[in-house]
Amino acid sequence: MSAHIIDGKAVAARLRARIATQVTDFVTAAGRAPGLAVVLVGEDPASAVYVRSKGKATREAGMESIEHRLAADIGQAELLALIDTLNADPAVDGILVQLPLPEGIDEQAVITRIDPDKDVDGFHPVNVGRLATGLDGFVPCTPAGCVMLLKETIGDLTGLDAVVIGRSNIVGKPMAALLIAESCTVTVAHSRTRDLAGVVARADIVVAAVGRPEMVRGEWIKPGATVIDVGINRTEAGLVGDVDFAGAMSVAAAVTPVPGGVGPMTIACLLRNTLISAHRRAGIAFDERAA
Ligand code: NDP
Repeated sequence: MSAHIIDGKAVAARLRARIATQVTDFVTAAGRAPGLAVVLVGEDPASAVYVRSKGKATREAGMESIEHRLAADIGQAELLALIDTLNADPAVDGILVQLPLPEGIDEQAVITRIDPDKDVDGFHPVNVGRLATGLDGFVPCTPAGCVMLLKETIGDLTGLDAVVIGRSNIVGKPMAALLIAESCTVTVAHSRTRDLAGVVARADIVVAAVGRPEMVRGEWIKPGATVIDVGINRTEAGLVGDVDFAGAMSVAAAVTPVPGGVGPMTIACLLRNTLISAHRRAGIAFDERAA
């Protein structure tokens, strides 16, 4: 048996095409394009690549990309002052500060300074609280993309057993919150979990967000499960995920590849959040759930 490969690139391309059309409608109604400000501090090569591709995707969707590149030794006060300026700028609908930040800058202080209603990354504690309580806010892009892929593959997720491996604020915790909202029975595993293989073996849905190459073995996976691999690990053999892809393919029903699975969805969901923000801020009606 060989599993279905979940084509995140294709799903993301369809979402981006839909967003581009909705951007055109927004421009007609509002007389301006949605604006996304991206702030990069320092020279981290992976971060520079992410910022470049976010800028390109933003422009391709017909939105305004406002990029700020700051030296690694910028003081925290200066960075916070830039965020204040972006918070006050009516042309800016979304603000994203690329993480990680250089040492010496308090990441949480920076995230908390962003206006929650422009926090398209969904990392501000106000948006974390909104997600936990089921209020409208901004959902972090990577887990939002994972849920879209799951629904595209499985349909209704109600009642399914889901395991999320990883409990970071960026992926694991919001992923668990979203799966609870989809009425899954959710287990969150982490580095202190006993018998990870046994936990994974019970799951209809496995989401791996660990950062350890091919740690989740094919033989752990329940036959017919759906596997979402968030991991991006640079190895001598190239980019690999957190899941043993070949092993998972021989037992699961569907698996995301790395690259070409979750990654493209993250950027598409960032554009979607920016478009949602632009409509909210302009007071223009928009069916967010259908978007
Ligand atoms: P973090 O390092 O913040 O979190 C990793 C989590 O994995 C922690 O909760 C940790 O547990 C857990 N963990 C570590 N070792 C084990 C183990 N042996 N068994 C079980 N759990 C373990 O990573 P992120 O959440 O930020 O990212 C995870 C991966 O996803 C990375 O590879 C990252 O590159 C990728 N990523 C991909 C994105 C995309 O767009 N595709 C976007 C964001 C991230 P504990 O809490 O106990 O330490």
